[in-house]
This record gives sequence, structure tokens and C-alpha cells, in this order.
Amino acid sequence: MKGLMQDWPLLASTILDHANTNHGEREIVTRTTEGPIHRYTYADLHSRSRQVAKALEKQGIVLGDRVGTMAWNTHRHLEAWYGIMGLGAVYHTINPRLFPEQLVYIINHAEDRIVFVDLTFVPILEGIQDQIGCVETFVIMTDAEHMPQTSLKNAVAYEDLVNGVDDDFAWKVFDENTAAGLCYTSGTTGNPKGVLYSHRSNVLHGMAAGSKDAFSVGSMDAIMPVVPMFHANAWAIAFVAPMMGSKLVMPGMQMDGASIHSLLEDEQVTFTAAVPTVWLMLLNHMEEGNLKLSTLKRVAIGGSACPQVMIEKFEKNYGVEVMHAWGMTEMSPIGTLGALKAGMENLSQDEKIKQKLKQGRAIYSVEMKITDDNDEELPNDGVAFGHLKVRGPAVASGYFKGEGGNILDQEGWFDTGDVSTIDSLGFMQITDRAKDVIKSGGEWISSIDLENVAVGHPEVAEAAVIGLPHPKWDERPLLIIVRKDGSNVTKDEILAYMDGKIAKWWMPDDVAFIEEIPHTATGKIQKMALREQFKNHRLPTAAV
Ligand code: AMP
Repeated sequence: MKGLMQDWPLLASTILDHANTNHGEREIVTRTTEGPIHRYTYADLHSRSRQVAKALEKQGIVLGDRVGTMAWNTHRHLEAWYGIMGLGAVYHTINPRLFPEQLVYIINHAEDRIVFVDLTFVPILEGIQDQIGCVETFVIMTDAEHMPQTSLKNAVAYEDLVNGVDDDFAWKVFDENTAAGLCYTSGTTGNPKGVLYSHRSNVLHGMAAGSKDAFSVGSMDAIMPVVPMFHANAWAIAFVAPMMGSKLVMPGMQMDGASIHSLLEDEQVTFTAAVPTVWLMLLNHMEEGNLKLSTLKRVAIGGSACPQVMIEKFEKNYGVEVMHAWGMTEMSPIGTLGALKAGMENLSQDEKIKQKLKQGRAIYSVEMKITDDNDEELPNDGVAFGHLKVRGPAVASGYFKGEGGNILDQEGWFDTGDVSTIDSLGFMQITDRAKDVIKSGGEWISSIDLENVAVGHPEVAEAAVIGLPHPKWDERPLLIIVRKDGSNVTKDEILAYMDGKIAKWWMPDDVAFIEEIPHTATGKIQKMALREQFKNHRLPTAAV
């Protein structure tokens, strides 16, 4: 028997309609690429997104077409997203930090017909335009006054495109499983693969991400997504904020400590989210200037492991609660968040911080398990660690155009490529990427744990650990350090600092110092590049 409730497709347009009707006056503030701060409301976003949809329809864009966006977090980028989705087309977020050949690959693979591009990225596209013939029109996200001289085909200023039509546009209505967004994973091997979100998955994931034990935001909050819309959907914030009626603060291209701090303070932000590198810049800036945070209540930190010192600084020095988060592009992206549970209220601050080092509990709609190499499920005892697998309505079921073949097992589990523990209360802790874990004498050493301890040393700016071949143990850890400016910290001092904080047999066999650690387009340490760089490095313990 079927239920007798209304069949109301979960479309992205319903989110914006809700914001317009119930929170039409709430502000959206942007630091524009041109410089000045821009302010308007959800009512304006609603109206201008319909103008974008109408303008795109006029350009011949139809249901299912892909429209690229290569842009910072701004009000225009939001308008583009909602306009594209409202027409039934698919926003394709293009990460400008990818190499030119990867950009060429993904734009062609996606078959983007139109690309919206911020001023800063125009030269990148000019450099590859001969190789991306599928793009018919480039929309430069600025007004006529700031339009650059460009060779891009059919280049038009965003404001001219949008203002060429009115907002008399009725959102298209279609099946909620229709594709809404496309984001390519920045895999370190092989070509990037496209994850194709649906309207239903975006709406469900947004609802789960905004809930109490997740981002915990409402209409009283002011949210600043520093995590870019081109990296895993800005962690759902473009959906959560209008759903909840939260003020939205879009930081644009300036992510240095000073710019972020001034926006947090000036716009009275209560919740923000980004990867650890961004917070490192903010913390350094605040420490140098002896600055405070007067309104910020919570910060979500994820994308790579949040070091203990970072949690300590936010919570102890600034009274800001840290929500450690884990997820991936294939999961829309949020999988877990580290909200404490009933019974943990009375833990000491240090015990709470220790708990928050774990990546957290699954949000509603995500199921998780860990398995051994034979696909046997391992116990949730917080000790056993194995391959982390997930499933749910906002987890990818395959890659765009079938790349990579069947990515689920028979029961629908997706292997995240991460290795983790899950404890009896459901808290998951990443110990490594499966390919980065160091296999020493048949046991596994977590490179992430070693990195976390090493960056706790006050003279260490960044740390990376890779496994190097060892005649007796198969692999042993090499710790690679970037010293803070002016530091001469030595190998012995680093190892002495780590002594007692990790198991003896996890102690790195050697420490190397370099000027800079290479990062991927999404800010992760490029272990492959480090393995290549250090392939001839001989561990002192490896002498035969
Ligand atoms: P991406 O698809 O670029 O978002 O990358 C997803 C991967 O980032 C995950 O599979 C993890 O390996 C890593 N990751 C994300 N969040 C965390 C976290 N909080 N701690 C450790 N690793 C993380």
C-alpha cells in the first residue's frame, strides 16, 4: 500500500523558494573579486537566480546540459548554481587549482556548453581554450565596467547576461533523481572521475548537514563557507544556509588570515568551515596581532586530519568549538562529524579534545563499517582498524559516464580508500589512506597519527610521513618536516619530542627537512610526489 502524502520532488529550487518566502530579508554578504563588499538578500538571490535560468534557457541550455563554473565563493556563484539547477541543467564545479591538462580533460569529459568564470581564472581558460571546443560561451563573472580584454569565445559579462532578461521564470519541475551537480575527484592516479549529485541527494544531504549534531545552524546564525564551492560542494553550505535562513558570508578569493578574520568579526559570523591550512593561517594571524574572535561559536574542520594543537587553540584560547568533520567528494561530501554524545558533558576539557581528534559519528543517511583485507567486517571496538566502507542516498553509486566501472560491492558498499577504527559509541577515526599506511613487519603504522604528533612541536610548520622500503620490516616511516621561519630544530629534538607520545615501534627511522611540502589541488599532501622525491633516500636503520 502506498502512503497518501503529496509527491513533492526534492528539488534544489524548493530550497530557494523556502528562503525567499520565509527569510527573504536575510543578508548574503560577499567580498567580491573586484574588491568591494557586496550585500543583498535571499529575495535578491531568488530573483537573480531565476534571471540566470531564463538567460541560460535563451542560450539554448536544456535539461541535463552541463554548465561549468570556475569561481570563488560569491553571490554570483550561488546565483549561477541555483539558476543552472532551476532549469534542470547540471552545475559542474571546476577546481582552478587542477593542472591545465586535467582541466582540459574534465571540461571535455563533462561536455560543458557554457562556462562561468571569475576574473582571476580568465587567463587559465585562455591558455587552454583551443583544447576545449565543446564550450560555446564563456560568461565572465563581472560587470561591463570590469570586463577584461579577452580572447575567450563569445565572452560576455555576467551582469549583461543576467540583466538582459527579467526574473519571470518558473522553475522547471522534474524527477528529484535528476542530476543537479558534477564534481570531479582529484585522484592522484589516473584521470579525475566525475561524481554526479542529484537534486534529491543534495537536498537530503543538506538537511542532514544542518542538523543539531552536525553544523547545528539556524536562522540566528551567520555562516561563512571558506571551503570553496569548487571543492566538494562547499560542504553543503550553499544548501544548508538558505534552508535554515542563516545569514551567508561569502569570502571570495581572499583566504589569508587577515581577510578571513576581518569578515568573521565585521559580519558577526557564528559558524564557519574549511580545511586545516586555512585555520593555520587564521590562528597565526590572530596570534601575531593578539586578536580575538567575538562572535564565532563553531568551526568545522575537515578535508584532512585536524591536528590536536588546532583544536586546543580554538577551544582553549578563543572559546570556539571545533567540529572535526570527515567526508569525500563521493559522499556529497559529509560522512561524519565529531559532536559529543550524552554522557560526555562532564569530561574534562582535555578529554573532550581527545575525543574530538576522532573524525566523528555518521550523520543521518550515512552507514559505515570497517572490513579486513578479506572483506570480513571488523568489530566497532575503537581498536581494530580496516577499510572504511559507506553507503547511503547521498553516496555515489558510480562515476559519470561509467568511468571506473562498478564501484559498489554486492551489498551496495563503497570503499572510501580510507583506513579507520570505529568505537562502540560510533565514533570513527581515520588512521590513514589505504595507500599511505606504512606496513611494518606485518603491522600498520598510521602516517596521519605521526604527522599529528610532529606538528605539535612548536617549531614545525608542516609534517608528512611516508613509508620507505626496509630490508627487515618491509617499510619504515620517514618523517618529512618543514621548519617554521627562523627555526633550526634538529632531528634529535623532533624525535625526543615525539618520544612517549606514540608507540616505540612507530618512531620514524629518519627525519628529513625540506622547504615546502607539495599539495594536491584540494590542499592534501601529495604523498606520491614525496615518495618520488625520496625514492633514493636511505634510512639509517636500513644498512645491511
Ligand atoms: P576529497 O574527495 O578531496 O574531499 O577527499 C576525501 C578524502 O580526504 C577522504 O577520503 C580522506 O582521506 C580525507 N579526509 C577528509 N576529511 C578528513 C579528516 N577529517 N581527517 C582525515 N582525512 C580526511
